[in-house]
Amino acid sequence: MLIGKQGAGKGTQAGRLAEHYGVAHISTGDLFRDAVRDRTPLGLEIQRYIEHGNLVPDDIVIDMIEHRFEEDNSLQDGFVLDGFPRTARQADELERVLAGKPLDLVIDIDVPTEIVLHRIAGRRVCERCGATYHVDSPPKNDWICDLCGGPVTQREDDTEDAVLRRLDLYEKETLPLIQFYRRAGKLAHVDGTVDSDDVFKSIVKLVDERYEPCRAAST
Ligand code: AMP
Repeated sequence: MLIGKQGAGKGTQAGRLAEHYGVAHISTGDLFRDAVRDRTPLGLEIQRYIEHGNLVPDDIVIDMIEHRFEEDNSLQDGFVLDGFPRTARQADELERVLAGKPLDLVIDIDVPTEIVLHRIAGRRVCERCGATYHVDSPPKNDWICDLCGGPVTQREDDTEDAVLRRLDLYEKETLPLIQFYRRAGKLAHVDGTVDSDDVFKSIVKLVDERYEPCRAAST
């Protein structure tokens, strides 16, 4: 699982990590954005929280995660959680959902707030495939996605007010989880200020180090 202030590059890092190990990538933010796009009644409710930078209520988040685990047997082979848990209650409920098979590793991608603000304020995302750009490194053609040709726009929760609210909630609700997972002996830190490929390499090194003893024991 990856913890990080929004804009720490965690979305792409988590997706890349899941691809690297051939396991599922579960991003609560992506699940919510899908529901909002589908304009389901739940999606419209969720939108009201997201657009103001508020957290979606725990009951909704936990229900969604529980469903995801119930419907997909392949998750037994492993998964990368992205953006979840974000509150103490979500962390407790996750242990229940995982029923005796706790998380192996929690990675905190560490980025100072001013860098996070710069990354989020300039972030632009492809509405179709989710590819991420920045005003400092835009797509080649006038905000048309290089990968799929979709429109590249600013997320509605990347406005300054919503971002400040999200950072505030991160400090209050999510930061205590670092202590929770440190006590459980699961926490590792990665410097998120360096080039994103180097962040990725550090994460892979940590995961490999964690699994090497298990692999050696099973051969
Ligand atoms: P993200 O893509 O992870 O930045 O999430 C986008 C938005 O979805 C957040 O600002 C929250 O409004 C909502 N969200 C995502 N994950 C959670 C979660 N675990 N708990 C509550 N709200 C969440």
